[in-house]
Amino acid sequence: MMITRKLYDTDSHIREFEARVLACREVQGKGKKTCFAAELDQTAFFAEGGGQAADRGIIQSSRGEELKVLDVQEKDGHVLHFLEQPLAEGESIRGILDWEFRFDNMQQHSGEHILSGLCYAWKGYHNVGFHLGTEITTLDFDGPLTEEELKQLEERANRVVYQNQPVTITYPSPEELKQMDYRSKKELTGDVRIVRVGDYDLCACCAPHVMLTGEVGLIKIVRWENYKGGVRLSILCGQRALKDYDEKNRLIYQVAAGMSTKPEKIPSALEKHSREMTELKEHVLALGRELIAFKSKQLLTQAKKQGGRAVWVEDLLDPVAARSLINELTPQVEAYAACLIPGKGKGFNLIIASRTRDCRQILSELGESFQVRGGGSPAMVQGSMEGDVKEILAKMPK
Ligand SMILES: [Zn+2]
Repeated sequence: MMITRKLYDTDSHIREFEARVLACREVQGKGKKTCFAAELDQTAFFAEGGGQAADRGIIQSSRGEELKVLDVQEKDGHVLHFLEQPLAEGESIRGILDWEFRFDNMQQHSGEHILSGLCYAWKGYHNVGFHLGTEITTLDFDGPLTEEELKQLEERANRVVYQNQPVTITYPSPEELKQMDYRSKKELTGDVRIVRVGDYDLCACCAPHVMLTGEVGLIKIVRWENYKGGVRLSILCGQRALKDYDEKNRLIYQVAAGMSTKPEKIPSALEKHSREMTELKEHVLALGRELIAFKSKQLLTQAKKQGGRAVWVEDLLDPVAARSLINELTPQVEAYAACLIPGKGKGFNLIIASRTRDCRQILSELGESFQVRGGGSPAMVQGSMEGDVKEILAKMPK
């Protein structure tokens, strides 16, 4: 069996490569779609693994066709490139990586090594979980870190970036390995690929990394949470960190402009705003109480002229205040109190209360003309209805 040579093992910056097709067969890909799995004598495409997605890109066939690489998976030592069209065995092809995607992944992944190596040397914590997503990268340490410690960790990680230290790959002998204190998630057998990040990390890992720590760019811990007795960090590195900075910067200025202040004054402006809101709410409540008393008098006068009915459209008071008004009126009117609160479009919310009449009966009488929905007790019903307000008022039962 010929094993595919992984070009990124020794050179992570290969973007294009020539290869020969060892085998190609029809398989069921993701979503049970028929596709073709091609094995090559060598490849620069990284197969999904260790929390990192497969590389993207295209394969140019010998006839010049461009086949999109749908997925790359490694199974029992075979690296399978999933394609929509088949390739011929023995055919020469050209592989072209989606370099933006690969470099972005290398920035995140190498940033993770720097943080994990520093944390291991400092606290003795292991990285017990890693996921490199398209938006965010998470890593889990098996011990707690305070906010202050996380800040320090981030600062030190960025210093490693400034130092532009080399990232090197070696395959030490079993004897050499025994002498090494390297990080690894599992017991390893066979050739062990050791990734060294300058003076700061030594880790068994199969993925492609940057060649110099400077390539990682900014390392930013954007969030953290306690997780299984340790801590889970969400990080952004390089281009992603810059994009995030850019978005946050824009947002801050947008918020500041909206509040007519400067970015650094947003917290005090917010405090002032919240204080004013509280005062305003208290003021509105006081006005509401005044309004309830005023309307109550008005509606009682109206009820006397309209056979004991207090019926009105309420477009000022909120629903809670409108209910207070209903509660105040009900004991004082002979027939009933009914309040219509305008909703969306031609709709109204309706509350009817009475101490002498069955409100469900009133509701069912209205139901014939106005698509009434709702219900309640004889003393009070609530519902919704649709129709012209004048017609509704005219049809309110006597
Ligand atoms: Zn790695």
